[in-house]
Amino acid sequence: MALVTDSAVVLRRLDYSETSQIIVLMTRDHGKVRAIAKGIKRGTKKRFATGMDLFDIGTAGINAKEERSESLALLTEWKQTRALSGLREALHRLHGAQYAVEITGGLTEDWDPHPELFDALILALTELADSDEPFESLASYQRRLLESIGSLPRFDACVLCGRLDELTHFSSFEGGMICRTCEPEQAEKHEVSKPTWAALAGRAEPASHVGPFSLMNYHIAHMLGKQPLLAGKLLSGHRRANGTPPDAARP
Ligand SMILES: [Zn+2]
Repeated sequence: MALVTDSAVVLRRLDYSETSQIIVLMTRDHGKVRAIAKGIKRGTKKRFATGMDLFDIGTAGINAKEERSESLALLTEWKQTRALSGLREALHRLHGAQYAVEITGGLTEDWDPHPELFDALILALTELADSDEPFESLASYQRRLLESIGSLPRFDACVLCGRLDELTHFSSFEGGMICRTCEPEQAEKHEVSKPTWAALAGRAEPASHVGPFSLMNYHIAHMLGKQPLLAGKLLSGHRRANGTPPDAARP
């Protein structure tokens, strides 16, 4: 038996039985953990007195048969330390937070610790809870997530020939930008506007964070093998509010 106490944020809640739920947590020092919370829906047990909701931040007591075990751990205790109520005050904040936890759950392995990613997720959720638009926080979180799992694409040069200019397309399969000369040979590719490329390569401050968000979402969707559920909602919400963005990537 391994008893673990760790800071955690709730990524998902799934019904399991009439009284229990499976909670997917991102913990700071133990990575993603799937645990069953018995009796949580009765709401009478002291250990879950405050209840648990998506995006809640707290301290979790986890009892695992062994760490890294494939079987469900048991959530023995939950003490909420922060509630980001601002996330539920605007649709773009809620969708942004749902997107952040969705890609975190999808791209990380159970019991694979990434303390720096946990900190980045808490920062992103905290920023989103007080945000006017979600894309700046989400684009920097996407980057941190891809960095943490060792899959940050190369933006500064053509991944095929090393050329530094005329970088017009992005290939998720090749893991970065490709230039005008290499592009015709490439089957899987996505056209990238100059401002979006310049922002991703760190050469200019982006006028809009929608382009960088969309492009990294394209890469993330490729890695997940499916489009994140909330990406479409975020981008269509943005289009409703601002008209069509110049560079909306639709994988
Ligand atoms: Zn090239």
